[in-house]
Amino acid sequence: MSTHEHQQSPQLSSLVHQRTSVSVSRCYQCGKCSAGCPTATEMDLAPSVILRHLQCGLPSSDNAVLSSYTIWLCLSCHTCVARCPMEVDLPAVMDVLRSESVRQKKVHPRANDILAFHQSFLNTIQRFGRLWEIGLIAEYKLRTWHLLQDVLVAPSMFLRGKLALLPERIKGKKETRRIFDAMRSKEEHHS
Ligand code: SF4
Ligand code: SF4
Repeated sequence: MSTHEHQQSPQLSSLVHQRTSVSVSRCYQCGKCSAGCPTATEMDLAPSVILRHLQCGLPSSDNAVLSSYTIWLCLSCHTCVARCPMEVDLPAVMDVLRSESVRQKKVHPRANDILAFHQSFLNTIQRFGRLWEIGLIAEYKLRTWHLLQDVLVAPSMFLRGKLALLPERIKGKKETRRIFDAMRSKEEHHS
C-alpha cells in the first residue's frame, strides 16, 4: 500500500487491506459492481459507494460504512468480483466491515435479525462441526423472539426429511473448534 493511500484512508481501509489484501484505491468507480449486485435495490449505499467512502477515509465516511444496512445484505455471491475490471474482492471487504461493525457496536437496527441468524449459524457449526437446522432455528428464535415465524412450514420439512431431530455425529469437531478459536484470537489481535 502506498504512503499516499495511507494519507487518504488511514483507518478502516487500512484494516481492510491488512485482513484481505484488498486496496480500495484500485476501485475507479465504474459502478459495474452496483449495477450487477442482486441486492443493490434494497441497500442504503450501493457497493461502489461503500468503496468510495472507504477511499475518502474520513471518520464520518467510515462511520457511514459501518452503520450501513448494505454490509448485511451482501450475499457473498461474487457477481461483483466477476464484473469488476480491477478484480476488487468486495465480498471479502464486506466480511471485514461486518465484523468491525459488530465490534464497534454500529450494527444497523434493521440488521439485528440478520446478525442473529449469522451468530446462530456460526454457533451451530462451532458446537456440532456442521449445520444442524433445528439447533440453528431454536437459537435464532430465542435471539429474535420470532417464535411463531415460519412454524407452519416445519411439519412438511420434517416429513420430507429436511429437519433432523438430533445433530449428526461427525469426525473433526475438535478441529472445527480450534478453527473458531484461532479466528477469535486473530480478531482480538487485530482489534
Ligand atoms: S466494479 Fe470494481 S472498479 Fe468498478 S466500481 Fe465496482 S469495485 Fe470499483
Ligand atoms: S457479493 Fe455482495 S456486493 Fe457483490 S454482487 Fe453479491 S451481494 Fe452484491
